[in-house]
Amino acid sequence: MTPGLEPWIARVAVVLASIVMVGIRAPHGHRSRGVRVAKSLKGTLEIVLLSLAWVSFFLPLFWVATPWLAFADYPLHPAPFAIGLLAYGLGLWLFHRTHADLGTNWSITLEMREQHQLITRGTYRLARHPMYTAFLIYSAGQALALPNWLAGPSYLVVMALLVALRLGPEERMLRAHFGPEYDAYAARTKRLIPGVW
Ligand code: SAH
Repeated sequence: MTPGLEPWIARVAVVLASIVMVGIRAPHGHRSRGVRVAKSLKGTLEIVLLSLAWVSFFLPLFWVATPWLAFADYPLHPAPFAIGLLAYGLGLWLFHRTHADLGTNWSITLEMREQHQLITRGTYRLARHPMYTAFLIYSAGQALALPNWLAGPSYLVVMALLVALRLGPEERMLRAHFGPEYDAYAARTKRLIPGVW
C-alpha cells in the first residue's frame, strides 16, 4: 500500500494559502485605489486574462467547499505535498516582498500611475518581474499540494498564460515611459529567474 495523507490536510493548506494571499494584497489594492491612473492598457486580452485568473483562483476553494470536482481527485502523497507547502511559503513571501517594493506603483493590470517611479531595488534588483515569479512559484506549489487534476494545476496554467502574454506589452509600456532608464535596467536584469531568463 502506498502511504497517503488525509485529503483534509490539503484542504486546510489551500484555504490558508488563499487567505494569506488575499491578506497580503488587500492593503495594496485598497491603497492603489487612491492613486490616479495616468495611462491604461486594459484591453480585451487583459479583461479575459484577469477573468481567467479570478476563476482559477477560486476553483481550488470550490474544490474545498463542494464535492463537484471529486471525480478528478487522486491520492495525496507526502513528498509532493511537502514540496507544495514549501513552494506556497516561498511564493507568498516573495509576493509580500514584491508588493512592499512596488508600493503604489503596483496595478492589477497594465497601467501607469501618476508619478510612477521605476523600481529597481529590493526584489526588483534580482529580476524585472519578481511578482510574476511569486505567482508561478505559488501556483506550482498549489499544483503539488492539491490532489485534484483540475483544481490543482488550474492557477498555474492561467498564471503561465498571463505571464507569457503580458511580459512583452508590459515591458513595452515601461520602456515607452522610462526610455533609457528602462533600457539600462533591462540590460542588467533578467525577466523572471535571476541570472537565467
Ligand atoms: N511585472 C511586475 C509587476 C507586476 S504588477 C512583476 O512581476 O513584479 C503590474 C504593474 O507593475 C504594471 O502595470 C507596471 O505599471 C508596474 N511595474 C512593473 N515593473 C515595474 C517596475 N520595475 N517599477 C515600477 N512599476 C513597475
